[in-house]
Amino acid sequence: MDRRTVLQGALGGLVGSSLVPFTRAAARAASNVSNTSNAPSASGADGAPDTSNAPSLKRLSDKIAVLSGLTDNVLVLSTGEGLLLVDSGSPGHTGALLDELRQLAGGKRVRALINTHWHPDQTGSNAALGKAGATIIAQHKSRDWMATAHYIPGEDRYQKALPQAAWPTQTFYSGGAMTAGGEHIEYGHLLAAHTEGDCYVYLRDSNVLAVGHAASPVRDPQLDWFAGGWLGGRLDALARLYQLANERTQVVPAYGPVVSRSALKAEHDVLQVIYTRMVDYLRKGYSAQDMLDAGVMKDLSRTWADPKKFVYDAFKGLWGYQDTLAPNIV
Ligand SMILES: [Zn+2]
Repeated sequence: MDRRTVLQGALGGLVGSSLVPFTRAAARAASNVSNTSNAPSASGADGAPDTSNAPSLKRLSDKIAVLSGLTDNVLVLSTGEGLLLVDSGSPGHTGALLDELRQLAGGKRVRALINTHWHPDQTGSNAALGKAGATIIAQHKSRDWMATAHYIPGEDRYQKALPQAAWPTQTFYSGGAMTAGGEHIEYGHLLAAHTEGDCYVYLRDSNVLAVGHAASPVRDPQLDWFAGGWLGGRLDALARLYQLANERTQVVPAYGPVVSRSALKAEHDVLQVIYTRMVDYLRKGYSAQDMLDAGVMKDLSRTWADPKKFVYDAFKGLWGYQDTLAPNIV
């Protein structure tokens, strides 16, 4: 039995069933389309406290939608046997998420959930969905972070492990593939793009690419350095995602509107400028503050809400790679 067979078997009734459009109720829900909310999501590793309570829905096709507003983005694929989600939204929004899914899909069960990473805004309803029988899939290291208490340096506190029902029931190292309702789905590790356990999820037939927090077209890009995210990893990930996509791909970040692959290139290119500057400053022995003072965030193609936080996080991320950045950095 090969890996693909195992994955298909674990998804049970999803496999081989045909894609089924959302219900009439979904069409009503979809009439309130507002996918470009700039309100911050619930508090978590990636954002400010939630001030929004208005869920909104963006239809990408008659079977695929992005739910946002109450949570970071949740991608929903409807199949004849149930729903497949990418990410489960922020903590405290489980009831609202399930209500929205009921309106959207007429009570279909969530059969499978893929987490793009382990942060709270992506795993808030994992426990409820896991208890209800959903297969939960994530990169192996993301499962470790969900299953283990850990320190959060930015908040100077310890985070308890999630309850066992929230833990992924299938993990992978480099990636995997499956078929759900006739849709070919691929997912792959994005090494150190934002944490050490990020992945993309590509609905290949529908040409929809969920990228989690590996791309951030609206908010400042976040590097969770304590969990292994660093600038070089993010650059590699953005380049890989750009190659994976084409000019018609609908790219779904963890937060913000659906974008095209040009947004991936734009983020890659501005981060490349910052990376090059930072490596040059490292050669000169600069601290993070020295880099800010020297203008590392000046004259860029986009602006940052909190450039100081970004530079400090990026600087800490470079610690682990100082012997590989360039031949003349000790
Ligand atoms: Zn995140």
